[in-house]
Amino acid sequence: MLQARSLSLRSVIKSYIPGQRAVNDVSLEVQAGEFVTFLGPSGSGKTTTLMMIAGFEAPDGGDILIGGRKIDQVKPYDRNIGMVFQNYALFPHMSAFDNVSFPLRMRGLPRDDIERRAKAMLDMVGLGRFGNRRPSELSGGQQQRVALARALVFEPDLVLMDEPLGALDKTLREQMQIEIKRIHRDLGVTMIYVTHDQTEAMTMSDRIAVFSQGRIEQIGTPREVYFTPHTHFVASFVGDSNLLSGEMLADGRVRLEGLGEFAAKASRYKSGDRLTVLIRPETIGIAAPAGDNSDMLVEDVVNFGDNCLVVGTVNGTSLRVRAPSISLPELAHGDRCGLVWRSEHFHFVDKS
Ligand code: ADP
Ligand code: MG
Repeated sequence: MLQARSLSLRSVIKSYIPGQRAVNDVSLEVQAGEFVTFLGPSGSGKTTTLMMIAGFEAPDGGDILIGGRKIDQVKPYDRNIGMVFQNYALFPHMSAFDNVSFPLRMRGLPRDDIERRAKAMLDMVGLGRFGNRRPSELSGGQQQRVALARALVFEPDLVLMDEPLGALDKTLREQMQIEIKRIHRDLGVTMIYVTHDQTEAMTMSDRIAVFSQGRIEQIGTPREVYFTPHTHFVASFVGDSNLLSGEMLADGRVRLEGLGEFAAKASRYKSGDRLTVLIRPETIGIAAPAGDNSDMLVEDVVNFGDNCLVVGTVNGTSLRVRAPSISLPELAHGDRCGLVWRSEHFHFVDKS
């Protein structure tokens, strides 16, 4: 077992260009052994935050603590952090074994220890028989496993991964996601994982920190972030969504563009407030047409095999519905169908 450590970021700020904050007041508490993903679009500050944790960039403000200890005076090498990047960054002239044992040689461990630990780590990532190969003699997935082994072999307190699977094809990426999760489970190490892929974040994480414009918009479990997003941005970035605007009415009812009126428990809004409602496409069902203006006019049906995405309009409002293919009638452009929805599946999001 590795010695997992907690990580704290407290009001961390970084500007590369005066007046423009690449990281704007980020605070975060990661428990020892937790798997936390930074999810956000390109340019939202994920890599910069990671680089400050690793010590390759210095914050302009705020504190970073590992295991409760401030690390601003600690050199990158002494922070005992394992790192994996998107572009492997293996030493091309060294064998897989030499790549993996490199951090141990740097630390001056006895030869027997180096031999034993590097071999064990290569076995762990399923490359026990490939120790002699150079990176150019390995597939993309195998190279990424070597990078993973090299990041873990010296028993780091914390492992940081920056879009480590971005260069791999879909099948390999899914295999490696499972592999990384298994290693996380087996070693119990604290992991910070960066991705812009929301599916990857959902499948791998204990918690997801959603980044936007240098800030964390929300941090929570995959379920929390998916079902109860705090902001418009989180609702639209994580998962497929319908975001409909509406208005709170006097009698505890809400009028929603397209869908009409329904009763709602939304005590934080008062009569006349404008609001946004998130309706996940899979919470709407398709039924026989009612023959009135509650029907959807189908624009497009996208078949994914197991499920279909039906895109259309209701009273001029665009709506996306996702339903299991097996329960769907044949639908095509120009058809009309009825909709089934339950307002308890609606989630209110503040406009922002
Ligand atoms: P992400 O990893 O989420 O894509 P980054 O942390 O790389 O985001 O970038 C955050 C912001 O900081 C972006 O606006 C980016 O252009 C800027 N930035 C990143 N690195 C540098 C740098 N070395 N010099 C100047 N600006 C940078
Ligand atoms: Mg990045």
